[in-house]
Amino acid sequence: MIEKYKQDICEIGRRLYNRELVAANDGNISIKVDENKLLITPTMMSKGYMVEDDIILIDYYGNVLMGSKKPSSEYLLHTTVYKNRQDINAIVHAHPVTASAFAVCSRPVDMRYMPEAIMSLGVFPVAEYARPGTKELALSIMPYINNHNGCLLSNHGAVCWSKDVYSAYYLMEQLEFYCKTSLIAEQIGSPKIIP
Ligand SMILES: [Zn+2]
Repeated sequence: MIEKYKQDICEIGRRLYNRELVAANDGNISIKVDENKLLITPTMMSKGYMVEDDIILIDYYGNVLMGSKKPSSEYLLHTTVYKNRQDINAIVHAHPVTASAFAVCSRPVDMRYMPEAIMSLGVFPVAEYARPGTKELALSIMPYINNHNGCLLSNHGAVCWSKDVYSAYYLMEQLEFYCKTSLIAEQIGSPKIIP
């Protein structure tokens, strides 16, 4: 199972990078293995070029159990979600251009324009600002873990959680699609809010 999960993480990394949902070495992906272990992407490496050996198995304290690379400094963001949602098995954190611009403006993504978005994504609130890679960043998402599929990280990017890594990735893709469509619609004219 672990080998399959590693392949999935590499595949999602390529998709994130190819769709410009992350730049350079940004973003991180994890899959929960059990109640105390997760597979996570390495720090300082492009998510578009990872191979299975680059993926690291860590415990919830960040100790490396398998792998030679250094795990993402954002692992606390991931363990915070896993500890609070038993139904969540994968997390994708990325910096999609439009969703990140919403995060910079502290504008929640409320899906007011498209019914499909509200059904599949729900509302994406903006977590309070905290520096990347800190415990404070992990704590900033606490108010949103139980009732949302993800949230924006103020002045930073977005994080999505779901039952598996493909679903978490699709949430990120849809979030960026919705943010981009809203932005263009607002530039074109006066978008209509769904009744
Ligand atoms: Zn980030």
